Amino acid sequence: MNTETGNIYKELGISENVYQFSMEILDSLSARFCEIDKNAEYNQLKVIKAMQDNKVSEACLLGTTGYGYNDLGRDTLEAVYASVFHTQDALVRPQITCGTHALALALMSNLRPGDELLSPVGKPYDTLEEVIGIRPSKGSLAEYGITYKQVGLLEDGSFDYESIKKAVNAKTRLVTIQRSKGYQTRPTLSVKKIGELIAFIKGIKPDVICMVDNCYGEFVERSEPTDVGADMVVGSLIKNPGGGLAPIGGYIAGTKECVENAAYRLTSPGLGKEVGASLGILKDFYQGLFLAPTVTAGALKGAIFAANAYEKLGFSVVPNSTEPRHDIIQAVTFGTPEGVIAFCKGIQAAAPVDSFVTPEPWDMPGYDSKVIMAAGAFVSGSSIELSADGPVTPPYAVYFQGGLTFEHARFGIMKSLQSVVDAGIVTL
Ligand SMILES: *Cc1c(COP(=O)(O)O)cnc(C)c1O
Repeated sequence: MNTETGNIYKELGISENVYQFSMEILDSLSARFCEIDKNAEYNQLKVIKAMQDNKVSEACLLGTTGYGYNDLGRDTLEAVYASVFHTQDALVRPQITCGTHALALALMSNLRPGDELLSPVGKPYDTLEEVIGIRPSKGSLAEYGITYKQVGLLEDGSFDYESIKKAVNAKTRLVTIQRSKGYQTRPTLSVKKIGELIAFIKGIKPDVICMVDNCYGEFVERSEPTDVGADMVVGSLIKNPGGGLAPIGGYIAGTKECVENAAYRLTSPGLGKEVGASLGILKDFYQGLFLAPTVTAGALKGAIFAANAYEKLGFSVVPNSTEPRHDIIQAVTFGTPEGVIAFCKGIQAAAPVDSFVTPEPWDMPGYDSKVIMAAGAFVSGSSIELSADGPVTPPYAVYFQGGLTFEHARFGIMKSLQSVVDAGIVTL
């Protein structure tokens, strides 16, 4: 630790033991990190090519006000997203307030009364339960006479093809596939697996719309779900594709018809994509997308570092230390409330913003148990920035993700280790 870098870690509260332990883990990961860098290189070039092909110019970085007619920057950005995802069109707007809004918009605009929605990968993300009406809610799809069917994954995480086949019927109009496991224990789906599922469903009913909830999955692999048959991918700009710079927003990329439907619902029938001023936000959207491949790579490396460190200390980690990655989320099961709390305190203490505050478990609306959250982000609630949260309830698992740079993600995990060691939960 007697180097310039070792010294500054010491000044930031990292002990000799934690430093040495972390260095050993990191040394063992260089081949894996090299693979991630190669993917980042490919995806970086994919984004640059999309920007060049669509002639992004300095004028595109400026915004419009009022109605936002003829917004060159907005229209070009949407063409860039369509190029990146290899789709006919895209809707990328600051007026889409978050990921849930983007997903709700895609569903509500592409389903009509009497249609049925199918999830063949089990329960969707928590917030979608109210969108669909699984939990009764004002304005849900259920209120508009849109029914819902769900088929769970099999015990081993594979698709239940037999039950999916039975669930597809004359009313089935749209199939929603969540790529990331979110806060569940099922495995995250690879793009290849999503492709197999879509091929199977289209084999039964060719005209069904296949939508993928792409949250946390963008740029983790070289291909995206729209490269393997998805009609629409949907996500949040304060996760991977915003590269940490987008302060708000969501996107829908897909077929001309799906995107058109979404645009008419977001603004108004008759207006569609033609309105929606971009104000001054476009430079951050472009620059964020430009940074997204390397930011995502840094977050992935952080997740792999954490999996390896905590697995070595005897904790159960999902994904485990060696398995392939399809999103940026890492779960660590501590088995005790003290472990979850100590981990989150460490992540908070590593933040560039609000490092001096102490996260405490609280009764968050919509949860049965207390939840503890660590986030010291430049963009409020941004989970491409280093962040962690855990419901303080058995099995006492913490979920963490992000890191705008690998250097920060790595420091955050070292601080979490220090906090867990200082709390006497493990000894190194
Ligand atoms: C984050 C997330 C959402 C919802 O996004 P919000 O921006 O939090 O509304 C939906 N699905 C998945 C898989 C997510 O990770």
